[in-house]
Amino acid sequence: KSYESVALIIGVTGIVGNSLAEILPLSDTPGGPWKVYGVARRPQPAWNSDHPIEYIQCDVSDESQTLSKLSPLTDITHIFWVTWANRPTESECCAVNGAMLRHVISAVVPNAPNLRHICLQTGHKHYMGPFETFGKVKPHEPPFTEDMPRLDAPNFYHTLEDILIDTAAAGLVTWSVHRPAVVFGFSPHSMMNLMGSLCVYAAICKYENTPLEFPGTKAAWNCYSVASDADLIAEQQIWAAVDPNAKNEAFNCSNGDVFKWKQLWRVLAEQFGVEYVEFDEREEEEGRRRSMVERMKGKEKVWEEIVRAEGLLPTKLEEVAMWWFVDVFLGGECMLDSMNKSKQHGFLGFRNTGTSLVSWIDKMKGYKIIP
Ligand code: NAD
Repeated sequence: KSYESVALIIGVTGIVGNSLAEILPLSDTPGGPWKVYGVARRPQPAWNSDHPIEYIQCDVSDESQTLSKLSPLTDITHIFWVTWANRPTESECCAVNGAMLRHVISAVVPNAPNLRHICLQTGHKHYMGPFETFGKVKPHEPPFTEDMPRLDAPNFYHTLEDILIDTAAAGLVTWSVHRPAVVFGFSPHSMMNLMGSLCVYAAICKYENTPLEFPGTKAAWNCYSVASDADLIAEQQIWAAVDPNAKNEAFNCSNGDVFKWKQLWRVLAEQFGVEYVEFDEREEEEGRRRSMVERMKGKEKVWEEIVRAEGLLPTKLEEVAMWWFVDVFLGGECMLDSMNKSKQHGFLGFRNTGTSLVSWIDKMKGYKIIP
């Protein structure tokens, strides 16, 4: 079979990587027909293996492994960077994430003569600073626009952008940067899956017959929020990969609507048949609000019981629920972005966030990740 384009997805089992692996091989995907290589660290999980891709198990933080596994892929035309590594400090994040991208570029650029474009996924932390400096460095004033200057704080997103721009300066490839808000998608291997974590929380509340209390702050409950559907992000990246109007630019990527957690919370409760309750303002005022980390302390056994009783795909609680991320994310007011630039350049995709939420819950249930 002859292909028009050949993708290399780095992070193919992640929350956006899995969407790219599903969408790229479809017959009507722009730029296609696509051949797809997908890289992740662990063996290919069952939920990722329906996709018609060539799976490559490779740790891209290992230079020689990356060179030996990726340099033979001489037909690559596009790279999709949807991975990251977490470390205790942002300067360590800069070092490790930068090294990962350099290893892949060194393995692919000299060996794939038809390489044309690299999509880099970063996110709203470009405008807010890394988790480490939350509350210390003043974020940009929302709504975020792509022309806002870099904040004066270390950020591995800057490191990655600089490597990308240097690579493109040699004249060989074009690039695009994609900056989603919190991602709603499917992946039991993601390091930051808000939806997945909230679903596991709802399943635990149901099992223990307790109401679905909102673990965040009053500000997060009441404010306008935005989210980014993983399929929409994949669509924007594919658009940028093939459309000349998208070259060498950064784009925000959110659904194009706003929502309030007080509204989505009811939807979440309904999906799991668990009792919905309003946010308890008094708890917050009296300093009794419990974080998600506190609420879910020691629930590993409960999750094991749920997995067994419901016949779910075996997972450990810490793989499918990131309580720290829920606390960070629902700890304050959501910051909005603008989709104007993306639309002006020709990407008109959008999602209804409420519908997106329900569809991802259905998918997680369908794959027996949650009851
Ligand atoms: P993810 O955690 O969902 O997936 C990461 C993928 O990379 C997985 O497939 C994992 O196996 C793979 N991987 C990790 N280390 C690897 C290594 N050394 N070698 C090979 N593969 C490796 O990723 P994500 O959440 O889509 O994150 C990508 C970027 O998007 C990050 O910069 C993140 O900050 C940003 N972002 C994420 C969210 C979110 O809600 N998840 C929101 C906004 C921005």
